[in-house]
Amino acid sequence: MSATLTVVCDKCGSTIVEGRTLAKISAGPLRQRRPTVDLCESCASSFESWLAEGNGQSDPVAGDGKPPARRGRKPREARA
Ligand SMILES: [Zn+2]
Repeated sequence: MSATLTVVCDKCGSTIVEGRTLAKISAGPLRQRRPTVDLCESCASSFESWLAEGNGQSDPVAGDGKPPARRGRKPREARA
């Protein structure tokens, strides 16, 4: 009998059958509540592109020259 552990994506909540990504939170307040984060394949890839954006070295995705639309990233607003 093989104990099949059902893993659910922590981001979208779908059951991960294969291509599971397990991210480990090694520091910060989130670690208390959620030391590990499971991501399904599609969430992991969006996480990856999100990381790439944060690096300031965003890959020219498919080179279609489209600006990242509807991302709503505003310039930092000075809060008075
Ligand atoms: Zn997911």
